[in-house]
Amino acid sequence: MTTPADTAPDRYAYWQNAPLSIAGSRVLVATKPGVFAHGIVDPASMMLAEQMASMGRSTSVHLNCGNGLVPAAAAVAGGSSVLWCSDRSLPSVQATERTMAANGIAGSHVVHAHGTHAFPLALAADVVTIRVSTDKLALQQLIWEAFHALRIGGKCYIAGANDEGVKPAVRLLESIFGVARLDAQHSGHRLAVATKTQIAPSSLTDGTSPYLDPDHFREVAVTLKGVEHTLFSRPGVFSWEHLDEATQLLGDLMDIRAGESVLDLGCGAGALGLTAATLSGTGRVLMVDADAEAVRCAARGMAKAELGNAEVRASDVGGAVGDETFDVVVSNPPFHQGKATDLMVPRQFIADAYAHLHVGGRLMLVANRTLPYEQVIAERFGEVRTLHDGRRFKVLGATR
Ligand code: SAH
Repeated sequence: MTTPADTAPDRYAYWQNAPLSIAGSRVLVATKPGVFAHGIVDPASMMLAEQMASMGRSTSVHLNCGNGLVPAAAAVAGGSSVLWCSDRSLPSVQATERTMAANGIAGSHVVHAHGTHAFPLALAADVVTIRVSTDKLALQQLIWEAFHALRIGGKCYIAGANDEGVKPAVRLLESIFGVARLDAQHSGHRLAVATKTQIAPSSLTDGTSPYLDPDHFREVAVTLKGVEHTLFSRPGVFSWEHLDEATQLLGDLMDIRAGESVLDLGCGAGALGLTAATLSGTGRVLMVDADAEAVRCAARGMAKAELGNAEVRASDVGGAVGDETFDVVVSNPPFHQGKATDLMVPRQFIADAYAHLHVGGRLMLVANRTLPYEQVIAERFGEVRTLHDGRRFKVLGATR
């Protein structure tokens, strides 16, 4: 829920346009907390952006488009006239849309998805850029789809940091395209390029992942609070290969009574929300997540469980919840240690949990025990209780 106070500079919903110079052209880049590379200039994206500036008129595809710097450079400094962009993160998609608007770029399509599966089939793109992400199978899918989106003679550029696995990514590029070349490297980042020279991709040396098919899901059997479910999961979704220990903890502690309405903030594959929907029976359960793949997985789990009382929605924290309020909010919020701004995302989870509870409604949240959430919850709710204090995780509760 965005209120006027949220648009103050220290708030989560505060959008800014940062000016950058790419090959002599000025590009505005929209950003706010929660957007990829917020508060920094990502060296890998800069490498891709500078590469795009030398392109000329083209059809370009930008996977993991982040804040939109790369497609904006393609249009403003390069001359790319048709752009297809996607990112699995909703805040990043919103940033790319704003970046396009801020630079007056028409003819761009920005899609909230992982990869190209929502794009037209025969793009015959001149160039594809991929900002490398850490999950290897999720990345393999992007490189595979990049190959198929290109025309013969088209080029795929990938860039990322050494500590994000850009070296194995270059090998992946090579295995699919046949040949790849390292184009540039500085300050721990690399840019590599491959040209599509044949219709069919080379066969992958370490086997073709079944997850190249966007409709292939991993099935994970879980039991929370005595309720059994099958979760559907995909590479890059939170804890996608097995149920997370903290999720299990909160799931077993949740006290959801029959008929209660529940909001699962940051639902991932849906473990908490699906369990809550079964426990509640008739109460409405809304599951939201910013990750497009998480949303698809949770929707699949919901369909399998035949839960008529649940709904899944893509949302930046509570941004797409509207003014609906609930009896209970459950959450295992994302956390990143390091930059101070990273705390703004979990802070917003707590703020939106409060905003979407009726008076008397309850928050139940699980976190790594070293995270300082007690104070944040107490500031909002006027109280905080420790429902469980374990060796690694704690479960915190508060009533509005
Ligand atoms: N509840 C799930 C997932 C917890 S991990 C489980 O317990 O298994 C935290 C989740 O928050 C991830 O799925 C992540 O995609 C999501 N997330 C991260 N940033 C978000 C944001 N800005 N808005 C909504 N969800 C977000």
